[in-house]
Amino acid sequence: MNKTVFDKILSGDLPADRVYEDDSVFAFRDINPQAPTHVLVIPKVKFARFTEIASRSVEETGRFFSAVSKVATLLNLDSSGYRVVINNGRDAGQAVEYFHAHILAGRKLTWPPG
Ligand code: AMP
Repeated sequence: MNKTVFDKILSGDLPADRVYEDDSVFAFRDINPQAPTHVLVIPKVKFARFTEIASRSVEETGRFFSAVSKVATLLNLDSSGYRVVINNGRDAGQAVEYFHAHILAGRKLTWPPG
C-alpha cells in the first residue's frame, strides 16, 4: 500500500496536533477543520477502508471504536454531543486511503449531511 499522509503522521515524518494516543490508535486535529472540534482517529495497524472492517478481528474493531468514544469523552463532548463520520470510497469523498473516523463537534451539525 502507498504511504498516505496518515502513515507519515504516524511515523513522525509529518507533524500532527495530537490529542490522544494508546497502543492501538492515534488521534489528532484535522488540518482543515469542518467544525470547532474536528479530530481524526486512526488505527495504528493500517487498513485503507471501512469496507475492510468485515475482515478485521472483533477485538481490533472494538478497540478502535472504544477509543473513538474515549477521545470524545476526553474532549468533553459527551454532554454537548458530537458526530462520528467515516467516509468510505469515492462517493463519500474519502480523500485519504487510510481508515479513519472523524469526530465533529462544537456547533449544531445539520442533518442530512451534504
Ligand atoms: P476523508 O475525506 O474522510 O478521507 O478525510 C481526510 C481528512 O484528512 C480531511 O478532513 C483532511 O482535512 C485531513 N487531513 C489531510 N491531511 C492532513 C494532515 N496533514 N493533518 C491533519 N489532517 C489532515
